[in-house]
Amino acid sequence: MPDFLKTKFVNVRKEHTCFGCGEKIVRGSIARVDTFVEDGIYDLYHCERCIKLEKEIKKDDKLSKLWDNYFYPDGVDQNDLIEFARDYNIKVEELS
Ligand SMILES: [Zn+2]
Repeated sequence: MPDFLKTKFVNVRKEHTCFGCGEKIVRGSIARVDTFVEDGIYDLYHCERCIKLEKEIKKDDKLSKLWDNYFYPDGVDQNDLIEFARDYNIKVEELS
């Protein structure tokens, strides 16, 4: 299990892939970068839509707990956030 180091919001200077939905995050758009340590340091990028989606989940106690359980024991894989949103019918704009 990787250790969480820090999180920050950035204006991306180059293209990244969103860990939440697998979509491209294009240059100049807002992203959240979560930094983890496990055999070295690595960053996971989340697009604005996924940031909103997580906010929706965290707003609701029940969903928030479900999401925490989704996370363990294996950790979250790429696109899990979108699958979770579909499973629990959580809607944010542009979610397809
Ligand atoms: Zn995303």
